[in-house]
Amino acid sequence: MKSQDVRSKFLSFFEDKKHSIVPSAPMVLKDDPTLMFVNAGMVPFKEYFLGNSEPKHTRITDTQKCLRVSGKHNDLEEVGYDTYHHTLFEMLGNWSFGDYFKKEAIAWAWELLTEVYGIDKDVLYVTVFEGSEDDGLEMDTEAYDLWKQHISEDRILKGNKKDNFWEMGDQGPCGPCSEIHVDIRSAEEKAKISGKDLVNKDHPQVVEIWNLVFIQYNRKANGSLETLPNKHIDTGMGFERLCMVLQGVQSNYDTDVFTPIIREIETISNKTYGNTNKVDVAIRVIADHVRAVAFSIADGQLPSNTGAGYVIRRILRRAVRYGFTFLDKKEPFIYRLVDVLSKRMGDAFPEIKSQKQLIENVIKEEEQSFLRTLDQGLILLNRIVEETKNSTVSGEKAFELYDTYGFPIDLTALILSERGLKLDEKGFEKELQKQKDRSRAASEMLTDDWTILIDDAEEEFVGYDTLEANVKLTRYRKVTSKKEGDMYQLVFNLTPFYPEGGGQVGDKGYLEDVRGDVVYILDTKKENNVIIHFAKNLPKHINEPFKAVVSDEHRNLSASNHTATHLLHQALRTILGDHVEQKGSLVKPNALRFDFSHFAKVSPEQLQEIEDFVNARIEGKLPLQENRNVPMEQALEEGAMALFGEKYGDTVRTVRFGKSIELCGGIHVNNTSDIWYFKIISESAVAAGIRRIEAITNKAVRDFYSENNRVYSKMKALLNNAKEPAKALKNLQDENAELKKQIEGLLKDKAGTIKNELKQELNDINGIKFLAKKLDLDAGGLKDVAFELGSQFKNLFLLLATEQNGKALLSCYISKELVASKDLNAGQVVRELGKHIQGGGGGQPFFATAGGKNPSGISDALEAAKEFVK
Ligand code: ATP
Ligand code: MG
Repeated sequence: MKSQDVRSKFLSFFEDKKHSIVPSAPMVLKDDPTLMFVNAGMVPFKEYFLGNSEPKHTRITDTQKCLRVSGKHNDLEEVGYDTYHHTLFEMLGNWSFGDYFKKEAIAWAWELLTEVYGIDKDVLYVTVFEGSEDDGLEMDTEAYDLWKQHISEDRILKGNKKDNFWEMGDQGPCGPCSEIHVDIRSAEEKAKISGKDLVNKDHPQVVEIWNLVFIQYNRKANGSLETLPNKHIDTGMGFERLCMVLQGVQSNYDTDVFTPIIREIETISNKTYGNTNKVDVAIRVIADHVRAVAFSIADGQLPSNTGAGYVIRRILRRAVRYGFTFLDKKEPFIYRLVDVLSKRMGDAFPEIKSQKQLIENVIKEEEQSFLRTLDQGLILLNRIVEETKNSTVSGEKAFELYDTYGFPIDLTALILSERGLKLDEKGFEKELQKQKDRSRAASEMLTDDWTILIDDAEEEFVGYDTLEANVKLTRYRKVTSKKEGDMYQLVFNLTPFYPEGGGQVGDKGYLEDVRGDVVYILDTKKENNVIIHFAKNLPKHINEPFKAVVSDEHRNLSASNHTATHLLHQALRTILGDHVEQKGSLVKPNALRFDFSHFAKVSPEQLQEIEDFVNARIEGKLPLQENRNVPMEQALEEGAMALFGEKYGDTVRTVRFGKSIELCGGIHVNNTSDIWYFKIISESAVAAGIRRIEAITNKAVRDFYSENNRVYSKMKALLNNAKEPAKALKNLQDENAELKKQIEGLLKDKAGTIKNELKQELNDINGIKFLAKKLDLDAGGLKDVAFELGSQFKNLFLLLATEQNGKALLSCYISKELVASKDLNAGQVVRELGKHIQGGGGGQPFFATAGGKNPSGISDALEAAKEFVK
């Protein structure tokens, strides 16, 4: 069965069971501080499990892109070495939100696997939770009894808390689970040892394919469990593993999901998959990682130096390094795999197809820059090897190479072992641990449980219409971090505060109770679809109503920049072309930043045109036309621009100003004339094929021009209030250049005269023409004089000195013949004489200079020079 059919059969099976099919959510997370990437199918639905919002459908099915490379679920180091863990994989799932529970979940899973997919019952095992004394939980007999109706009891195994109790994190919804495992070994192998004994033992042909999670508890901050009012089903089946079973192969990499990519790697590298272990590992690593990196870029997460971007950069670098070491690829090649990938997966995930060129460019540039790093690292490593006296390179040196230059440690170890040297691995681990401890201490955060005051499922946002509202606190919790100390997070029944999102910063403001007690709201953010207000203190009277007031200055200036961002987006697509896509934006009160795909620098003329375009729309006084509740389909039909990698609901808000129409939840001005004026401040590159424009609006423009004007007036005054200051400045520059030229000429003449005088002053000491003298010339003058005299005599020893701007300078010239015959060295001379002027220097044996900060030592230095020729 082809992989496409495997996927569609799953979805249509559950559609028949009244599930609604939803597309995969973006993999990169925006409003969840505990997680960078979706690492399981349930993540996009967290808000439903947490009870923060109500799902439209109580039954859902999907295939979700997951990435397991950081945090609680991190499979990165396995990938390539085994045949069934990936960084990016698809998780097929069916979901019940307070609808059906264990009975249906188990029956349907069984029906799908054995009847629809036709998997032989004799290769399947299932597990149930055995209970846990720590948590005071009994064995999940309910699941056991249900399984008994489908599968013989000797194939139902009991599993411990580690394997059979699923938790999304340290806190939150959780519950027992039942896993389904397959045993795809040969009959011969099976006869030797029963599959039963290999379940959950990391055997590559006895693997878990599906996990059915029965969410029925909530884990609190103190570690205890409470029973949830609603019970949910969360299942996740590894798509690539399922394909392996259905295509009768022994490895995920032998399925049609991977073989086209592997063939392409073979062609490009001229190596064959399946011959030697090291090459195979490298090929698997690359085939896997190119998918993870390509999907992240398509979702809007570019490789970078921090956070999620850094995780992506590290994945790509791991692939480059395996190619570099085991496939002998010293030039970029991974970007060339994007083509097959997009042909292969572009139908199920059109973002890969539509952004192919950008993905290729970004990957290629990352490859190039990391290969340069590797080159540099090799040079540094060679130096370290030369300096190493015994046979072991210290952990600190290796760590520096790793930390400062990004040189991979296993590559260091490999190269050292090729040269017969050892690496102090323990020392390296120690340094690495120290660094981890430092960053953990800096980012550690303690989160208390919510204290619920009022049971109110959905918090309403009223901030589009008002900056003030009467609110009630429904829940709060304390969070403690090293950086910010204690903070309180407050949630209200309704709120006028806009939470950070869509690039726009969160609102600030205050809460006031009837007695006049005030608490400041320092920031507002969204987490799993709840609006959270940050305050340093808890209000004194938490059960009383408050007046919640948003700071209007902060809000209005942000709105001005947000609307300008939309107009800028429209201008870019009109002037540069339709290929322009938004790749990121930041909207603050004092500035805006907009990143977009475009393959060349935007010229000054184009920038002017863009600025004019936006300002024309500001002058046009376009009113805000918003529609808060449009079905997604309809919005797209009307031409609204949607951002790829953004999670949208079934209905969306559209924001229109004239012909600019976007899906947007942000805050905007009521009329474009409120923006006053738009000014571009800079244009630059962020990555290959991604440009950035920074701009200002409103008061910031006024401040910008008044500052410019202040500087201009000052310059004009300096130019004696010339009528045409630019012309006056040009005249000054020309005059300056002319004077410079004259001075150079004069100095040359002077050096010529001095040279003739000096010739007369040369002393004969032991057959050497010797002179030590202070002159009134600059460094260049001393050198000219020395070289000219040098060209006339074959046995010259000169020590010339000068004093310039309170500093001393020595120049020593020794004829090459003398250097050879008398064993003299100018470098050594200046080093020694430099001591008199409190300085140092060096150079070549026949000419060297030294600078120092003590001009009064010059005469001593001149005196001491004689010693060298005696
Ligand atoms: P394993 O023990 O094999 O690592 P898991 O217990 O981590 O699996 P779950 O978290 O229960 O797996 O995820 C649900 C399903 O997703 C698994 O049954 C498996 O089929 C699939 N899966 C999990 N991790 C990966 C991965 N790194 N690559 C591919 N598929 C995976
Ligand atoms: Mg795992």
